[in-house]
Amino acid sequence: MHSAAFSRWDHVSSLDTLLPFAFKEKIMGLFRVLFWIALIAAAFWLWRRFTRSRSTTSTSRPQAEPMVRCAHCHVHLPQHLALQQDDQWFCSQAHLEQARHDQ
Ligand SMILES: [Zn+2]
Repeated sequence: MHSAAFSRWDHVSSLDTLLPFAFKEKIMGLFRVLFWIALIAAAFWLWRRFTRSRSTTSTSRPQAEPMVRCAHCHVHLPQHLALQQDDQWFCSQAHLEQARHDQ
């Protein structure tokens, strides 16, 4: 059984047929690897795009952004959404105005 299979293989694979076959296998293997890398990269890119577009609306941002507290209603909010007056932060223009009136 073993010898029969080996002899058949030996018959088919002369040096002329073996080399292109090995070369083709190598190329196909390379393409398979590149295909998987591209697929993973695309999936990763889509995932990043998806999480980034969601993070703008959700309260839990993946990046550690400094949180500040509104001096009027004491609500916590990301610094980029807050309004600054002197060294105090406010959640909205209305609270900034109100705090200014209280003083
Ligand atoms: Zn406020």
